[in-house]
Amino acid sequence: MTYLANSARYDSTGDNVMEYRRCGNSGLKLPAISLGLWHNFGGIDVFENYRDILRTAFDRGITHFDLANNYGPPPGSAEENFGMLFKKDFLPYRDELVISSKAGYQMWDGPYGEWGSRKYLIASCDQSLKRMGLDYVDIFYSHRPDPDTPLEETMGALDSLVRQGKALYVGISNYSAEDTKKATAILKRLGTPCLIHQPKYSMLERWVENESPESLLEVLGNEGIGCIPFSPLAQGLLTDKYLKEIPSGSRATFAHGALLHDQITPELIQKIKTLNTFALERGQTLAQMALAWLLKDQRVTSVLIGASRVSQLLDSLECLKNKDFSKEELGQIEKILG
Ligand code: NDP
Repeated sequence: MTYLANSARYDSTGDNVMEYRRCGNSGLKLPAISLGLWHNFGGIDVFENYRDILRTAFDRGITHFDLANNYGPPPGSAEENFGMLFKKDFLPYRDELVISSKAGYQMWDGPYGEWGSRKYLIASCDQSLKRMGLDYVDIFYSHRPDPDTPLEETMGALDSLVRQGKALYVGISNYSAEDTKKATAILKRLGTPCLIHQPKYSMLERWVENESPESLLEVLGNEGIGCIPFSPLAQGLLTDKYLKEIPSGSRATFAHGALLHDQITPELIQKIKTLNTFALERGQTLAQMALAWLLKDQRVTSVLIGASRVSQLLDSLECLKNKDFSKEELGQIEKILG
């Protein structure tokens, strides 16, 4: 059946509470919640399920979908599946969507299939555009810093992609505070400002707050660059999912997943149980509290969530109804986190 988007998707009343935040100093606004296609949209996944997740997301005001060359499995299949659905469902809404892709991790054989060379980044962007059936992506990222390629070359390739009309904006992911400063300065010189940084950040992963002399968050704030934390639910750990057991079919049970069984220790589960009780006292689920906790910082433009079913997406979206924390609450959360 032809998909017709919910006509109330931008209403800020009723079920739809989406908020749009300016990405750093740029002109681009992103939804406070964005959807990532790392897992659950690949060749091994169920079409009806991921189609429903994407449709529900857009119907609820999520205008930003995040991909990368290697998402699947197999690598490339998330972009192919997205491309197929884009053509069927979202083509009329192209100008309402911010679609991103990235290159940096292993994608093809030989010396040019990963990292940060100009050769790899430009070829990979071309491949991603083909797989998704797009003329351009809204944001193209260098997925990880490359210790062996001059930063000027990697940033120069991002700048070229914009000049070639293949990307509207550029971003970086997994770069340290220091490398972010250097990359930002190069991009500024080239005339293509760095729009956004995509770091791993959640209640359980705090590196973006901790570098010295300046933390990544401070650099992003000072430079006017947006921040879109990935794995904000620590891949599902910051939900009520693992409180009793490791449920079958969860990410922790997948061989291709990066969430390992042995990360789930009794100490961690105890911490999560206490956080869960605290969230319920605030009148929200743990997933909602974990997302709201990130969004309390105005330097965070959007949180980049994953979902394996529509019900998870709907649960996470509810975080927008209760984003305020008192000083006491924040202190108590820090105490629980230790
Ligand atoms: P999350 O931390 O949001 O984890 C998503 C997983 O958590 C879901 O697949 C599901 O697990 C579980 N989950 C989600 N919501 C709920 C809920 N309400 N209740 C219970 N369980 C829930 O994010 P991801 O790790 O998936 O990462 C999000 C996106 O970030 C990726 O898709 C990608 O776009 C980006 N990313 C970027 C990286 C980078 O290097 N730049 C690296 C990794 C991700 P289950 O499947 O078990 O049901």
